Amino acid sequence: MLRLPPENARIVAGTIRAGGTDLPALSEAALRRTIRGRRIAMVFQDPMTALNPVRAIGDQIADIQRRARGLAPAERRRRAVAALARVGLPDPERALARHPFRVSGGQRQRIALAMGLMQRPQLLIADGVTTALDVTLEAQILHLLRELRSEIDGSILFISHDLGAIAEICDRVVLLYAGEVVEEGPARAIFHAPRHPSCTRALIACDPARIDTATRTLPVTPGEVPDLARVPPGCIFAPRCREVLPRCGGERPAVVACGPGPRARCHLLAAEPGA
Ligand code: SF4
Repeated sequence: MLRLPPENARIVAGTIRAGGTDLPALSEAALRRTIRGRRIAMVFQDPMTALNPVRAIGDQIADIQRRARGLAPAERRRRAVAALARVGLPDPERALARHPFRVSGGQRQRIALAMGLMQRPQLLIADGVTTALDVTLEAQILHLLRELRSEIDGSILFISHDLGAIAEICDRVVLLYAGEVVEEGPARAIFHAPRHPSCTRALIACDPARIDTATRTLPVTPGEVPDLARVPPGCIFAPRCREVLPRCGGERPAVVACGPGPRARCHLLAAEPGA
């Protein structure tokens, strides 16, 4: 969406629309001027590498504020302090003069969130923002995201492999396998009545929170994610699927609407009435 991959990665087909704008069709200059950090902001997994370690936090916030022309320095400082206070950073006035390595990992992630929200984006992409944190900090950041979600005039795209965090924070879930959407729908439907007969059900079944207390084993799915340079011609999940049909090896399944909300990709699914 923000075209951050290196130059050897290309978008060869399809569209990515944000509020009616086809993002891949925009020039690099237009993307930077109108989208990146403005309509769409991103917070990364590791706040230590996302923040510049040799510049004070206030200077890094000032870089973002320079885009808002006509603001007096005192007002910029007031807004920076307010943004850091909003994400729960202790002593935000003093934090402006600090460097990222002087604050904890959880506080760095709060700073990254504050910076992401400074331009009031319509979409905040939170990419694995709790992955590098311990469970206590993870719970704090999830709590903060839940609060921010109801305050910002936009959406949060929460990217994670943590099923518990996803269940806690998301309204809608899109499940990707090997880069392909296999199921999407309301979070409640995904977790309580997953439609994809093998991929989603197998994933939820091997959530450590559901471990079989009698045997202490997880029902893991054998096999590995395919090499994306040699994607199987039919269903991408076929090499690992317990329900595999003869047609699955050569025929790519379509996305099927399973009722009014969920959609999933599998030959075993038939469209439900009312979908
Ligand atoms: S399409 Fe076939 S291989 Fe793919 S998930 Fe469904 S049953 Fe399994």
